[in-house]
Amino acid sequence: HERVVAADLAVGDMIENQLRPQRLADFIGQRQVCENLEVFVKAASRRGEALDHVLLFGPPGLGKTTLAQIVSRELGVGFRATSGPVVAKAGDLAALLTNLEPRDVLFIDEIHRLNPAVEEILYPAMEDFQLDLIIGEGPAARSVRIDLPPFTLIGATTRSGLITTPLRDRFGIPLRLNFYAAEELVEVVRRGARLFDFALTADGAFEIARRSRGTPRVAGRLLRRVRDFAAVAGATTVDRIQADAALQRLEVDGLGLDAMDRRYLDCIARNYGGGPVGVETMAAALSEPRDAIEDIIEPFLIQQGLLQRTPRGRMLTGAAFDHIGLVRPATSGE
Ligand code: ADP
Repeated sequence: HERVVAADLAVGDMIENQLRPQRLADFIGQRQVCENLEVFVKAASRRGEALDHVLLFGPPGLGKTTLAQIVSRELGVGFRATSGPVVAKAGDLAALLTNLEPRDVLFIDEIHRLNPAVEEILYPAMEDFQLDLIIGEGPAARSVRIDLPPFTLIGATTRSGLITTPLRDRFGIPLRLNFYAAEELVEVVRRGARLFDFALTADGAFEIARRSRGTPRVAGRLLRRVRDFAAVAGATTVDRIQADAALQRLEVDGLGLDAMDRRYLDCIARNYGGGPVGVETMAAALSEPRDAIEDIIEPFLIQQGLLQRTPRGRMLTGAAFDHIGLVRPATSGE
């Protein structure tokens, strides 16, 4: 099933590209990250050098790809993008790297999913701009060294703990993206409404924003669905009441949780007495991949104070029981 609040990319999101901010100044929120990037970009440009390698980490849909594109634009250099699972062989990476112009940005999404053999040849490429390749097989095999243009690798991953230490250590600029505040998402929603030429009142924009799971991608998606409901209903302007009605029909509740989030909370509450319960057990119980649970469902529930990760497993807080309308057990965590 497709989740309307799913933060990972779906086909309908190709329209997202139209919504991407183009410059650092247009990027909403993540102040600290943007301010730091601005300094590093300026310094690198002034020296005429490639920017140090950047590692962006944070849940899906928070703007990692967007920021990577913005950085290349601010540097005035080319942008190439790929993702960890796509770069299957050393030769694939070699082809990408040898095609770069000096100071270009190479963006690798889901960099934690790189094949270890590929990751290995990335180390000297990042450190010394050199590629060591083995050509041929058996006794005829020989190694060749290729000089690369200086480039900037921007890696993106959902959790910094997913990537190996040697890889992490080679990024000079690690940056963590956090969930957005409702006021920031209001700006994202209003910007989207402007671009879509869609009349949305201030309270309508706030209603969508506060129910967007702290995630711009979700805000954009909810905005498009609300717009669909409004179009079919023949409404010319959308206010809080209409936004709320549309979001209810999408089963997005007051906190921005969808049916999947509530199933997750409900399962721990009813089947495991509120926890602790291991993530593997939850994955099996919900028939969802463990990655999706850890990357998409849990981070927001934790940020909302509904869930705790303990050494013994996941535990619901009292607030989670309140939210799903069940009585708190005497032992529930806070
Ligand atoms: P990620 O790479 O982290 O999964 P993306 O960069 O693809 O996320 O962003 C998802 C969507 O959210 C894009 O449509 C993008 O335009 C929008 N978006 C992300 N961050 C911002 C932001 N700070 N301001 C406005 N729109 C944003």
